[in-house]
Amino acid sequence: MPVSARRTKIVATIGPACDAPGVLERVLAAGVDVARLSAAHAGLPELRSRLRALRSAASALSRTVGVMLDLPGPKLRVGEVAAGTVLAEGASIRLLSGDCVGDAERVCVTHEALWSDVASGDRILIDDGRLELEVSSATEGEVGCLVRRGGPLLPHKGLNVPGITLSVDSVTPADLEALAWGIEDGVDMVAQSFVRSAADIVTLRDAMAGAGLPIVAKIEKHEALDDLDAIVSAADAVMVARGDLAVETSPEQVPPAQRAIIGACRSRGRPVVVATQMLGSMTASPRPTRAEASDVATAVFEGADAVMLAEETAVGAYPVESVETMDRICRAAESAGQSAPVSRETTGPTASVAAAACDLASDIGAAAMVVATQSGATARAVARCRPSVPILAVTPVATVARALTLVWGVTPCLVGPLESIESMTRSALAASLSLEAVRVGDKVVLTAGTSVGVAGSTDLIRVLTV
Ligand code: PEP
Repeated sequence: MPVSARRTKIVATIGPACDAPGVLERVLAAGVDVARLSAAHAGLPELRSRLRALRSAASALSRTVGVMLDLPGPKLRVGEVAAGTVLAEGASIRLLSGDCVGDAERVCVTHEALWSDVASGDRILIDDGRLELEVSSATEGEVGCLVRRGGPLLPHKGLNVPGITLSVDSVTPADLEALAWGIEDGVDMVAQSFVRSAADIVTLRDAMAGAGLPIVAKIEKHEALDDLDAIVSAADAVMVARGDLAVETSPEQVPPAQRAIIGACRSRGRPVVVATQMLGSMTASPRPTRAEASDVATAVFEGADAVMLAEETAVGAYPVESVETMDRICRAAESAGQSAPVSRETTGPTASVAAAACDLASDIGAAAMVVATQSGATARAVARCRPSVPILAVTPVATVARALTLVWGVTPCLVGPLESIESMTRSALAASLSLEAVRVGDKVVLTAGTSVGVAGSTDLIRVLTV
């Protein structure tokens, strides 16, 4: 796989729209770096067969594609609802704990203790905010509401209580079931939904029992914005999950939150993904709107590592065209130049060596930066400086190579064991040539650790001539 000219990575959600023969291969070939499997929208048998299909399509295309398993998290939903149910504005409705088939007068919800978390006057939003209720009473097992904005009520739709901290567990039994499958079948990273604090991330890490998959913290709760710095530090990567974030806060709070989240991630060197409705109209149309093109470009200008497609590739009519379009918009935005400030704040030897290597590469006009990396940390530290030349991450660890697919500008390259400085240098140069990132006679800057094979020992910078 030659080095991509595009530096911003593309995450695409894989769903039924990619199941027809040949579609998945075309979607990946159009430029997907990370494939997202959503456990909120598919059962384990479907996830398993899509993961198998992904691995075989990526290998047929000789592409390194990371797989992100998105855990459902403690999302509140309404239960079963009778067909044709419509909530009328001004009517009363009761929200109950337990199981029932709901109608226009009473609906069951998945959170048993909702009645103890809310008070009179609180707003409850259903179905992405299409329906709005106002709490009028809360007694054991029952919340009385007035319908403020009515409309059709469909079964299993999401329910949000903006501004209220709910008494739900951060990691649910459904998360643990999906996580156990993901660890067993070898996904490359997990996305944690509805993170509220850094402690939630620790809880998920503990639940992995040492499996050590990177955690992508989805920022979609108002509490997460209040604990942003600690969450960014505790997570391995972050997603601006704008769908639920807009319901939990408000649509107008999403753009400033996006900018703050990207800024917090850039200053700590955490990869950050901007997600949801980026090319939403392409679910049904072969061309994006002007506003969507601008939205993707803004994420690039703000310095995001990756942009994400959700419904567009999971259930849309134009999954291949959506990836192609996103690829073109990213390239055009990148060619307008880097506008996000480059973080120079260093946090230790790895960050300092990486920053110095980037300066050196620019000073000597190197054709590429080559990073020998055991854990991926040095490659992320180099990417954080946003060098203008390709970053080749040479690693002997397949899971590290696939996790680096999310990181801005990094082309991962799997090699044999890195045994000595000399063998590591030879492997790195051979990899750069085979990826067509450099030509004979080019200069490259190599950075690595002299305790070869030991993560976190970055202390070497070398200028090499290919
Ligand atoms: C979102 O809410 O924006 C998001 C990415 O999460 P999900 O698609 O799982 O709802």
